[in-house]
Amino acid sequence: MNILTFDIEEWFHILDNDSTKTEKEWNNFPSRIHENMDRIFSMLEKTNQKASFFVLGWIAEKYPEVVRSITDKGYEIGSHTSYHQLVYEQTPKDFHSDIERSVKTLEDISGKKVTMFRAPGFSITESTKWAFETLIDLGIEIDSSIFPANRAHGGFSSYGEAKPSIISLEGVEIKEFPINTTKYMGKNIVFSGGGYFRITPYQIIKKWTEKSDYIMTYFHPRDFDPKQPVIKDLPISRKFKSYVGLKSCESKLLKWMDQYDFLDISEASQEIDWNEVNRIIL
Ligand SMILES: [Zn+2]
Repeated sequence: MNILTFDIEEWFHILDNDSTKTEKEWNNFPSRIHENMDRIFSMLEKTNQKASFFVLGWIAEKYPEVVRSITDKGYEIGSHTSYHQLVYEQTPKDFHSDIERSVKTLEDISGKKVTMFRAPGFSITESTKWAFETLIDLGIEIDSSIFPANRAHGGFSSYGEAKPSIISLEGVEIKEFPINTTKYMGKNIVFSGGGYFRITPYQIIKKWTEKSDYIMTYFHPRDFDPKQPVIKDLPISRKFKSYVGLKSCESKLLKWMDQYDFLDISEASQEIDWNEVNRIIL
């Protein structure tokens, strides 16, 4: 099962960096969202694939037409928070009000119930399990915020096998679609989104796709945008990861979408027998 998802944010929503941290800084940058959304829609239309879109509330409030174009074209939406902050840097109270605002914004614009969520930078960790209670409390039924390996912004390395699971805590439950990993030279490697996808040659992606029975992708509008400005104060290693492979990413993803079938999250959820999956008790 291969699942296609996009996190809808601007090219400058780069985490953990002073010049791109909050709304105050974001307002100084030129927008590229419309041009980049057109590119994503065109890839989906060319290959006749479905996808789920996790939309940032800040984008939805500023450009409601982006949300309308996603839902008018028949794609489903979920929340990617309102203000793109790392979960483990927020208090439970701040996280609650941020998610509540994003869900309300997306529901008001789309007229559809929002039941899916992805955290910025996959930043739900072992130390912020409380985030799941907040999500369930606000009507979220499906989460896709678990990165079951070590990572700069979080990661949940004790999660276990990277497969759809039920997370259970304090007597409530949520369905989890983690990012998938593949074993390579003894390590758990991620290849299905962002900088990892851009840097991995297509032949290797193809090989790893064929040996995976579950793939959860995560792309951003900026992954396909070689014309985006460069954030000058990023450390060298982050600069590399943020800007490597932008030119070839569109054709690489098109090739992948041409060759394999992808589902959106709702379709995938319907195919899964949730009584049979792993239960993770937190
Ligand atoms: Zn994001």
